[in-house]
Amino acid sequence: MKVCLLSIAASIVAGYAFAQQPIENISESELPSLLAVYKDIHSHPELSAHEERTSAIIAKELRTAGCEVTKRFGKYDKPNLKCYGVIGLMKNGQGPRVLVRTDMDALPVEEETRLPYASKVTTKDDEGKDVHVMHACGHDAHMAAFIGTVRALQRLKDQWHGTIMFVGQPAEETGNGARALFKGGLYDRFGKPDFALGYHDNPFLETGKIAVCEGYTYASNDSVNITVRGVGGHSALPHKSKDPIVLSAEIINALQTIASRENNPIDPVVVTVGSIHGGTKHNIIPDEVKMQISVRTYKPDVRDRVLAAIDRIAKGIATAAGIPAERAPIVEVLRDQFVPATYNNPDLTRRLVAVWKKELGTDKVEKTDPVMVTEDFSEYSLPDYSIPACDFYIGAVDPAKIADSKKTGTPLPSAHSSKFAPVPEPTIQVGMIGMTSAVLELMKK
Ligand SMILES: [Zn+2]
Ligand SMILES: [Zn+2]
Repeated sequence: MKVCLLSIAASIVAGYAFAQQPIENISESELPSLLAVYKDIHSHPELSAHEERTSAIIAKELRTAGCEVTKRFGKYDKPNLKCYGVIGLMKNGQGPRVLVRTDMDALPVEEETRLPYASKVTTKDDEGKDVHVMHACGHDAHMAAFIGTVRALQRLKDQWHGTIMFVGQPAEETGNGARALFKGGLYDRFGKPDFALGYHDNPFLETGKIAVCEGYTYASNDSVNITVRGVGGHSALPHKSKDPIVLSAEIINALQTIASRENNPIDPVVVTVGSIHGGTKHNIIPDEVKMQISVRTYKPDVRDRVLAAIDRIAKGIATAAGIPAERAPIVEVLRDQFVPATYNNPDLTRRLVAVWKKELGTDKVEKTDPVMVTEDFSEYSLPDYSIPACDFYIGAVDPAKIADSKKTGTPLPSAHSSKFAPVPEPTIQVGMIGMTSAVLELMKK
């Protein structure tokens, strides 16, 4: 790998060849085996909360590397779901405690990448519907790099001290996997880490690179249900009814004024009505309409104001339309589905950027902007962000494809697309080098 040779040369010049070189060497020697693991996991994807086979692979690797392993750890709110969390403790004397997380789940997507190792897996989802399954978010690449990191840190034990908490997290895509680990008592049972680290492949960044955002990186997500209640009747007799469909239309438009008219423009807010269902037939005014809304924010006070505004607007418009108080809209914030915003501790992030620049080269590390998507990695830093955490990006795209997309204007497939798969090499290797070097920095003797 070109990156690696340049880095080794730079390391020798800089005089820390002995400290730096082994990560590169280990990643080179492990690569064939990691690629095999990657392809195996890619062709055997499992849906969120069903990661039985995948978690067994992670557990086996952790055990082989000498970790104390706990399988099937965690507890979902729904008692019928099995939680396949895997925790591996790699102990190496007194010292810092660092959490390293990979996610493990795949998505109900039919793969269209035409890769030789493409998934052909089908299964039934939790509603009993037949679905295809695909690693369309690249969690398979995260796991391959995670396994590489486990092997490297086991071999580099003379360079660090303390305890590494390796976490194989289920159900990232459904936003409840990390929470299930906490419900199982993650920090009570395995100790509270001094730092938490995670990564995600990036479908728009060149492979070979790391990118990272300082501060708020991913938004929080709230799911809100509104039941708009009217008074049903005949379509030809609107004066004898209260139409919840017209009312819903007014509410939807008014909800857009939360971001545009009520909010400080420099605080990002997204309010999306993602689902609306009401009525059965042309000539019936229905009794009610149901809406599902997704709310994204960063700051807790902004979140509180937006949720209050949704409630106020829905009820206020219903009052203005003459809906009786006992038929006021029911606004329900699904507290158990909340995912907090991810905050990359600025001091930690800057410290790691310096390490990655040494490892990979200055031109291989980029700063990037925050986005309004959600990652439940945020849970590991605790609600008050008292555990410094960093969730960084690993570039996953062939640079030629990025150049081509810029030239032609044809967008690249995003994560969750049936056509997205990370370029395995050097994506996995860079993920492994990035995570291993970060852990060594935080735990060095
Ligand atoms: Zn995803
Ligand atoms: Zn993902």
